[in-house]
Amino acid sequence: MIGPPGAGKGTQAVILASTYKIPAISTGDIFRSNVANETELGLQVKAIMAAGEYVPDSLTNAVVESRLSESDAKAGFLLDGYPRTTDQVHELDRMLTAHGTALSVVVLITADTDEVVSRLLNRAGVEGRADDTETVIRHRLALYEEQTAPLIALYAARNWVVTVDGLGAVDDVTSRIVSALATKGIAAPAA
Ligand code: ADP
Repeated sequence: MIGPPGAGKGTQAVILASTYKIPAISTGDIFRSNVANETELGLQVKAIMAAGEYVPDSLTNAVVESRLSESDAKAGFLLDGYPRTTDQVHELDRMLTAHGTALSVVVLITADTDEVVSRLLNRAGVEGRADDTETVIRHRLALYEEQTAPLIALYAARNWVVTVDGLGAVDDVTSRIVSALATKGIAAPAA
């Protein structure tokens, strides 16, 4: 799943993981839990995340590679917040090729800037994330436009991208994603 901060990727990823019975792998969540547990990785990334910068590709790629090699990812997985840079796209290609697999679809969730800024400022009041201040939010959005949005064209050239409007009720967005996935031949397993 790709889209600007605040588009709802994390919220949808959790729902989709349960619908499609695959793990949702969120690099942001993995980094946050490392920060909370004060692991060595957490200490390395804490200040970077608080400033809204991207964690270096080498660290991020290593985290994803190790998570993808866990057994629950064998039958499929959903990536939330990865890849975010061209280097990460190439590393992911390499990892998946090594596992004899590839992505099936890239879900782009759209939301305009005013909406995402207001959602993230709201979330700041609820979750207290260090990177949800207005200055840091603006910086994260700028980084997204500069480093991550260009990946959409790269994946579109592979014909993998489906675009879903991220505005509206959570359930409505989920339904849009489920319909979009069906156009790519991806159906939820029977309950
Ligand atoms: P957001 O959707 O607001 O970007 P995330 O929880 O996905 O929130 O990510 C939070 C932070 O974690 C990012 O601002 C960045 O510091 C770090 N991060 C997450 N994924 C990546 C990635 N793929 N590459 C580099 N940094 C990442």
